[in-house]
Amino acid sequence: MLDPSDDIELLPPDLRPWRDGGSDVDHVHVRESGRPGPTAMLVALTHGNELCGAIALDWLLRQDVRPLHGRLVLAFANVAAFGRFDPDDPFSSRYLDEDMNRVWDESVLRGPRESRELRRARELAPFIDSADALLDLHSMQEPGAPALTICGMTDKSVPLARAIGQPATLLVDTGHAAGLRLIDRGGFSDPTSPRRAVLVECGAHWEAPSADMAIDVSLRFLRELGMVDADWATSRLRVRTPSRQRLVRVGEGVTALTTGFRFLMPTHHLMVIPQAGTPLAEDAGRQWVTPHDGCVLIMPSRRAGQAGQTMVRLGRYED
Ligand SMILES: [Zn+2]
Repeated sequence: MLDPSDDIELLPPDLRPWRDGGSDVDHVHVRESGRPGPTAMLVALTHGNELCGAIALDWLLRQDVRPLHGRLVLAFANVAAFGRFDPDDPFSSRYLDEDMNRVWDESVLRGPRESRELRRARELAPFIDSADALLDLHSMQEPGAPALTICGMTDKSVPLARAIGQPATLLVDTGHAAGLRLIDRGGFSDPTSPRRAVLVECGAHWEAPSADMAIDVSLRFLRELGMVDADWATSRLRVRTPSRQRLVRVGEGVTALTTGFRFLMPTHHLMVIPQAGTPLAEDAGRQWVTPHDGCVLIMPSRRAGQAGQTMVRLGRYED
């Protein structure tokens, strides 16, 4: 059993100075340029224990970043969960009542259900729905995990991810059965809408490189949208540009039937299993095998916390 506090290389930033961001919602910063242009939005702390995004937004605010055109929105999402971050129990502050990255369907957001995450999501929704381009900053569970960009359920945000140019791996997937993600909300997942959103998994939770990646990707996003001076952004980049970006098309997910779910081999994120039909996992008498050659494992979970949990998603490289 690992001792989590040994793995915590990042300190949670002090968000108290950023409570009043000039909007009517706490920890949401709205900066108007006074010139026509897009609304660009950066979101951190959709998951309260993923510190890298909060570090990136704190860094941008300390640089006093201002948009050259259009409007810039910087939002710390699940501040309440983040406020409970404990280095000795860092997984417990992912959320308070429910996963804030599964609540974004209009029927859920406008429905009768109540939770602290839903209340916060209802406050944030008008800002999100005003964004022409959105970057949602996350991190992953697996130690040493390489970063990737989730472009959503359609291909339309892939060009934005490629223009950002970082990180090396891009994903188009099928979303989550448990609920709609922020990047799939409304126009973001409508192929006919020009609105675009990407989620960047910046690396492993609490590892120092994830914060550098979060700042790097944020600068590239702002540069691509013309929100900041290109030379200013370029001179502050922190992570080497990958020689190329490869797209993984994600197909089916493997969902736990019980908490007894187990993989039949050691797994790691972006591991490629060459042969179709290789036994992958079993649970309650069911066995899963790889559905095709060159099967890429996306963020395998270490253990099933509950039935219905997505344990791994399976994809293949398109290029
Ligand atoms: Zn996350």
